[in-house]
Amino acid sequence: MNKPEILPQTDIAGPAPRHQTTQVMVGNVAVGGGAPIVVQSMTNTDTADVDSTVAQVAALARAGSEMVRITVDRDEAAAAVPHIREQLDKRGITTPLIGDFHYIGHKLLTEYPACAEALAKYRINPGNVGFKDKRDTQFSTIIELANTYGKPVRIGANWGSLDQELLSKLMDENAASANPRDARAVMREAMVQSALHSAERAQELGMPKNRIILSAKVSAVQDLIAVYQDLAARSDYAIHLGLTEAGMGSKGIVASSAALGILLQQGIGDTIRISLTPEPGGDRTLEVQVAQELLQTMGFRTFVPLVAACPGCGRTTSTTFQELARSIQDFIRDEMPSWKSKYPGVEGLNVAVMGCIVNGPGESKHANIGISLPGTGEAPAAPVFVDGKKFRTLRGPTIAADFKALVIDYIDQRYGAGAKAPESVTAAE
Ligand code: SF4
Repeated sequence: MNKPEILPQTDIAGPAPRHQTTQVMVGNVAVGGGAPIVVQSMTNTDTADVDSTVAQVAALARAGSEMVRITVDRDEAAAAVPHIREQLDKRGITTPLIGDFHYIGHKLLTEYPACAEALAKYRINPGNVGFKDKRDTQFSTIIELANTYGKPVRIGANWGSLDQELLSKLMDENAASANPRDARAVMREAMVQSALHSAERAQELGMPKNRIILSAKVSAVQDLIAVYQDLAARSDYAIHLGLTEAGMGSKGIVASSAALGILLQQGIGDTIRISLTPEPGGDRTLEVQVAQELLQTMGFRTFVPLVAACPGCGRTTSTTFQELARSIQDFIRDEMPSWKSKYPGVEGLNVAVMGCIVNGPGESKHANIGISLPGTGEAPAAPVFVDGKKFRTLRGPTIAADFKALVIDYIDQRYGAGAKAPESVTAAE
């Protein structure tokens, strides 16, 4: 019988060095060139509806979106853009707005100069910027306007609106070659070429490289990884990462995280968007939360305190620990916008909420503050650990509320004005 192969032990390599790109300023946000990976999102309101769009941009910004894209699809939308900007400014929300243009961007940006001025970046889809003879004129018009207003552009190729002329040309060349590649590989090449050729054309029209961001979005994970690897290998433009049409619920989250996680680990990506389809009436800010959690769990950035919670099992006596974990996580997310200034560094806090004695005390000791709730057959007591040491035991029906109060106390003592060193926060039971 063959012995199983024993693989050599290897060190955990960690992420690859970041792919070196040219930094682009989008309003006051730096993208690429070694800047922290930026989280962005997109509204799904009718941009012509100023109040709804302002409310959603504000919600996305409050959730942590550092740039927000809005659709600019017709005259009413273009006319609304400066009013949206003005209302956000009045509320103290400085988040840059990006205009998403298809088909008539050249016309809207020409006819609505206040819109062109209010936007911090224009997104152009090279597959949807006019066809045949008109393509170059319309593309040139947008680039020239961007140059006039000093705005950067994202040249965003998309699988669903691939430049058909380029694709046909590459398909014909492939068919005539001695070693033709499969059709999917040719489509991937068309995506990359579409983005790169458009970027080169923008530079020929006088746009500096430090105002160009590229994306090439595909809906299949393996294709997306291949396309972005190629894009990064062949250029040093700043890169916007995103899986298009990721889908609803867990499918969208898993597909986006798998694709983007691999690329980020390889050092590719300067800004990310998680394109989730919200449930009807669902919260649009979920895409921001997922983007932040992806970057934070991979160790690239820190946004909000993390709550570690066990999955629960047959040893869990009730839903208390699930409710507590949810309640603490929601509480932290809701409070973070004000905590950011009140408690500098609080985003690095780790909280543990565990269901029983098996892993509860151990995991809780690794957190800044953690609780081990009683499992089946255990005494109805919940030890709380602070900075690795037993701090107190909670009992009775108010365990959840008492633990929440301890978390708030800990944050205040550790991160508030006159914060104490970690050791002095802990007090014996
Ligand atoms: S810590 Fe306890 S309740 Fe939680 S999963 Fe492990 S054994 Fe189950």
